[in-house]
Amino acid sequence: MSREKAFAIPNTPTPGRPVIFDGELCNGCNLCVEVCQMDVFIPHHEKGNTPIILHPEECWYCGSCVEHCPNSGAIRLNYPLMQRVRWKRKDTGEHFRV
Ligand code: SF4
Ligand code: SF4
Repeated sequence: MSREKAFAIPNTPTPGRPVIFDGELCNGCNLCVEVCQMDVFIPHHEKGNTPIILHPEECWYCGSCVEHCPNSGAIRLNYPLMQRVRWKRKDTGEHFRV
């Protein structure tokens, strides 16, 4: 009897992308997977890779995953456009959005 391996893959068609991983800085320790109360991620099936974002729509943008990551910059929040603060500098008229 043949045995097939099945792996979870990211939900690519979704418009939601709550966090962005930096593959150079992330060592796949999966601490972010452990601390996320909403189970947004699952560990990657290949050890050492960035976790898989399986349920992006469940993210609360609480920031726990970013706070607990031991490698600064390996993961960052990607707020939806409508939730980003926007302001204008009075003297120059420049607009900023974070
Ligand atoms: S906690 Fe940081 S280094 Fe560890 S898997 Fe998550 S993003 Fe990567
Ligand atoms: S911001 Fe919070 S809810 Fe969203 S993925 Fe990180 S820990 Fe999970």
